[in-house]
Amino acid sequence: THIITSPCIGTRDASCTEVCPVECIYDAGELYLIHPDECIDCGACVPACPVSAIFPEEDVPADEHAFIARNYDFFGV
Ligand code: SF4
Repeated sequence: THIITSPCIGTRDASCTEVCPVECIYDAGELYLIHPDECIDCGACVPACPVSAIFPEEDVPADEHAFIARNYDFFGV
């Protein structure tokens, strides 16, 4: 899956939601989050984000690792 991290907070640009082919990016309040079971890892959302908040799970920076659980937990996955 792909993971949305802290730069989305306060930004909420939502351009990612327009390019995701499976519409698996959801409004989670202060940020957007990706449903881990629905994401097909196409990568389209990564360049669409103006604040570079989205990473493949394996590439999430160490200081953003808390957001991996946040993406999973929001969907109960
Ligand atoms: Fe959607 Fe593709 Fe981004 Fe996954 S990687 S959230 S499927 S645009």
